[in-house]
Amino acid sequence: MSIEETDIVVIGMGPGGEDAAGKLAQAGLHVTGVEARLVGGECPYWGCVPSKMMIRAAGLLAEARRIPGMAGTSTVAPDWAPVAARIRDEATDSWNDKVAVDRFLSKGGHFVRGRGRITGRGEVTVDSAGGPRVLRARRGIVIATGTEPSVPPIRGLAGTPYWTNREAIETEEVPWWRRCPGCCPSRSPRRANSSQGFSAGRASRCGPAPAPSMPAMTAGSSP
Ligand SMILES: Cc1cc2nc3c(=O)[nH]c(=O)nc-3n(C[C@H](O)[C@H](O)[C@H](O)COP(=O)(O)OP(=O)(O)OC[C@H]3O[C@@H](n4cnc5c(N)ncnc54)[C@H](O)[C@@H]3O)c2cc1C
Repeated sequence: MSIEETDIVVIGMGPGGEDAAGKLAQAGLHVTGVEARLVGGECPYWGCVPSKMMIRAAGLLAEARRIPGMAGTSTVAPDWAPVAARIRDEATDSWNDKVAVDRFLSKGGHFVRGRGRITGRGEVTVDSAGGPRVLRARRGIVIATGTEPSVPPIRGLAGTPYWTNREAIETEEVPWWRRCPGCCPSRSPRRANSSQGFSAGRASRCGPAPAPSMPAMTAGSSP
């Protein structure tokens, strides 16, 4: 297997690794960035950016629900579809990192997709789609592998379908809406009035509270 010489290998091209790799490349070093998933890491694809689209949407709904009694009347009909569409179209490019890879290449960087392992002094082996590639770093290795969602050791959780922040961000459906399409925008009796966009009659068809069927959420890397 041939060995590919480079000055610096950056393992992990999240916000930290991408920034370091880009600056080192712009400084004139031969830099090879290695990324197992998507250049940009957690933040643009499963963290900072899409989560703010979700929070903004939730905030708008909450605000609109405050209109009755304060500023007139409102009818609120929550819909996840536009939120999911924005996450795909405006935040994540449907989880495609071409723009980020091109941005790094335009700074003079070199890119290898795959999981990197340090296999010797100054040596990183990458399990890429085309087979293993061995990189030899003349100057150094930057480890910027970030975090994975943490799954707490709760009995029974491992055998249960649960969500981390990644599934929550990627979903195109809100689980309890799937069980009861077109109704149940709120489970709270206090909110089950016409100003919420559904009637008590519709609410009564919504079955038991959604919690048992909702996948558990676990915390990802902390915001
Ligand atoms: C829901 C949520 C909301 C957040 N909101 C905010 C916010 O509003 N503001 C804010 O500042 N921060 C926010 N964060 C935190 C932010 O996402 C992280 O701080 C940031 O992504 C960390 O960057 P990083 O480069 O250290 O690691 P990561 O983003 O985790 O990137 C590490 C990269 O390394 C890759 N990798 C790992 N191991 C290997 C390997 N062996 N070989 C190759 N590649 C590998 C991974 O695939 C990943 O792409 C949020 C996080 C979450 C989960």
